[in-house]
Amino acid sequence: MAKIKLNNIFLRPKKHAHKLEERDTFCRTCGEFILEGICFYNNVCEVCRYTIEDSDKYCANCGILTGEISGEEFYDKGKKITKSEFTTFKKL
Ligand SMILES: [Zn+2]
Ligand SMILES: [Zn+2]
Repeated sequence: MAKIKLNNIFLRPKKHAHKLEERDTFCRTCGEFILEGICFYNNVCEVCRYTIEDSDKYCANCGILTGEISGEEFYDKGKKITKSEFTTFKKL
């Protein structure tokens, strides 16, 4: 038993000169695309999918020894994607 590494892509607002509202995709003032994609990694328990911190030796939800990373999964804004799709994004 072990843990699974989740590789996530999500979009967040860039630093921008004009005032932005939450969930805007384009600037209301100048029309610029104001989001940027960033990668974010976290580990979850292989058994129960509970979030596991790097310092955790045991899963805080089900109690298994977390051990080494046994697999990887890739997500784009919550949607599961393939490793090659994820790698393509990282090169952008
Ligand atoms: Zn603007
Ligand atoms: Zn667990």
